[in-house]
Amino acid sequence: MGGAGIGNRGGTSGIGMTSDRTRARMVERLRAEGIRDEVVLAAMNAVPRHIFVEEALAIRAYDNEPLPIGHGQTISQPWVVARMTELARNGRDLAGVLEIGTGCGYQTAVLARIADTVYTVERIGALVNKARRHLQALKIRNVQLAHADGSVALDEKLDVDAIVVTAGTAHVPTPLLKCLKPGGRMVLPLAGGDSDDRRTQRLTVIELGSTGIREQTFDAVRFVPLLGGLA
Ligand code: SAH
Repeated sequence: MGGAGIGNRGGTSGIGMTSDRTRARMVERLRAEGIRDEVVLAAMNAVPRHIFVEEALAIRAYDNEPLPIGHGQTISQPWVVARMTELARNGRDLAGVLEIGTGCGYQTAVLARIADTVYTVERIGALVNKARRHLQALKIRNVQLAHADGSVALDEKLDVDAIVVTAGTAHVPTPLLKCLKPGGRMVLPLAGGDSDDRRTQRLTVIELGSTGIREQTFDAVRFVPLLGGLA
């Protein structure tokens, strides 16, 4: 997959910053920084991140940093994408996953490698088109992408194993919990407590257990905000 993509980006291929080896080094760093799930690491190794950023930024595509994708939004940091995917998977095979906040489609592509079907919604129309182009370029066909507001109930009736919210919020988007199967997990960057800076969140897992809802808190992260309405 990576080889074909590199050919398409002629100008960046010669310097090797977008090569399979560069990506393999990124995966080694993810492993060193605590990502344990080999299925997730294999997916991170398979998806060429440089395809998802502007050509001028491709040289930085495998650094562990968020990068601008236009419209005031960013592509998430590789470590954050890996960690959220690991938390969503929790060692299980996933049939359906719902992603809120497609952005340029990078995490969508990673999720598409570990789940049978990925449903993803994005509120900015121009990014929906951008993500669609990226996913088509990589011939990813198990993704259903929609221009929709994922902070409210979705039109579609879904029944997924995991929901990954890739925008920061101070409130759990509870209407979405209806889309989760029993035992399912929502992973989201949740800002909590009065003292917290609203731009800083903690990765939080909401699990629909047989005895009720369980909430667990993980790493500190910084995401663009979950906003209401379409743009
Ligand atoms: N998953 C992306 C992250 C993109 S940043 C990646 O892999 O890089 C978060 C995205 O969430 C932005 O594109 C933003 O427009 C989108 N977003 C914010 N609020 C939203 C909402 N209510 N519904 C859908 N998308 C939303």
